[in-house]
Amino acid sequence: MPALTPSRPSGRASLPHNPGPTHTKPVSGKRRLMLQTKLARQRALLLANAPLSRLAGREAEAQPDPLDQAAEGLEQELAIQARIRTLEQLHRIERALRLIRTQEYGRCRLCRQEIPFKRLAVKPDTIYCVPCLTRLEEE
Ligand SMILES: [Zn+2]
Repeated sequence: MPALTPSRPSGRASLPHNPGPTHTKPVSGKRRLMLQTKLARQRALLLANAPLSRLAGREAEAQPDPLDQAAEGLEQELAIQARIRTLEQLHRIERALRLIRTQEYGRCRLCRQEIPFKRLAVKPDTIYCVPCLTRLEEE
């Protein structure tokens, strides 16, 4: 009687050969939750520190000195730029918070490749992968 005891597969072979993320959602589960939390926190921070009221209540002071007026003008200019940057950042974060519920989030808008999680962790409001962003900035 031949010993035909079949050697059991070691269990290793039965692992799915592609344990990576499915193509439905580039970012899911805990990672998505983590990024979502991060985005929400960034938004709260921006709203708390937003220099949105910095410009109010300054025009009352009379400044006859033109040098002082120039300095005042520059200060206002900087305040306006800071405000615009904050608003842009808020806008990107709001967009990411909307996108994160969809399959679009974590996918480059240009080449449709998945954006590496490492990059999303650093910049969760990004919509481009690094190569595409580099190309955009060079143009
Ligand atoms: Zn890309």
